[in-house]
Amino acid sequence: MRELVVLGTASQVPTRHRNHNGYVLRWDGEGLLFDPGEGTQRQMLRAGVAAHDLTRLCVTHFHGDHSLGLAGVIQRINLDRVPHPVTAHYPASGRRFFDRLRYATAYRETVDLREEPVSGDGGTLAVTDAFTLLARRLSHPVESYGYRLVEPDGRRMLPERLAAHGITGPDVGRLRREGELRGVTLDQVSEPRPGQRFAFVMDTRLCDGVYELAEGCDMLVIESTFLDGEADQAEEYGHLTAGQAASVAVEAGVRHLVLTHFSQRYDDPAEFARQARAAGFAGELTVAEDLTRVPVPRRR
Ligand SMILES: [Zn+2]
Repeated sequence: MRELVVLGTASQVPTRHRNHNGYVLRWDGEGLLFDPGEGTQRQMLRAGVAAHDLTRLCVTHFHGDHSLGLAGVIQRINLDRVPHPVTAHYPASGRRFFDRLRYATAYRETVDLREEPVSGDGGTLAVTDAFTLLARRLSHPVESYGYRLVEPDGRRMLPERLAAHGITGPDVGRLRREGELRGVTLDQVSEPRPGQRFAFVMDTRLCDGVYELAEGCDMLVIESTFLDGEADQAEEYGHLTAGQAASVAVEAGVRHLVLTHFSQRYDDPAEFARQARAAGFAGELTVAEDLTRVPVPRRR
């Protein structure tokens, strides 16, 4: 199962309808919690995400709307005695903030919480069977990194060709593993299957990192704090507008664009969609609301 669970969608100041940021990406056996703001623990409850589901904590930067929820979430995974290791990625320059949040109050530590901070331009953070996790530096007043998951490319078996060669049952697995069986090669009975790609881009101006993270993504979750009319403010405070975020998605060939991290000044979410369409984005579009679930699009 691969899906995005949206826990919160507000930048800076939560509103009546929007919690601070918070996003869980379920990707096969892993659960990656991105940018937990205040109230994340309760939003997880409402969204049906358990502490046990989490395997990684990924923080783009240390502003409160992206990190104040760490204290509660970290204590909760310990209270629930999550049995597997949990790995935390965050900007190394903000280690003192992470330490304070991790040890904000007294509690009993039961979980193997591993810290793997990001520094420099970013780079490869983890390689698993299901994905490679990368980070890239963004452009914001405090050091900020976006994250990207890339599934390795594979091959899709073609049942009718397998049948034509009389290959069934366990022989299919053997052919897949060994590349050849009784003179039939893997190429003859399968086709390339591009791996899926996901990116999480928060709190940044337009910069090279944004485009590198978004390139060819099946799903891009990206901040659009402002509408296009406030482009000057977006530039000044290190944010994107709806039109800028959508233009990135167009250039990068994104299939499903998820806009989020909205300023509290706006009360009509439809305007973000209008501006994204006006920028030329024609793919699947979600203007995120709290507690929305967005499936990662089916493979090409
Ligand atoms: Zn923010």
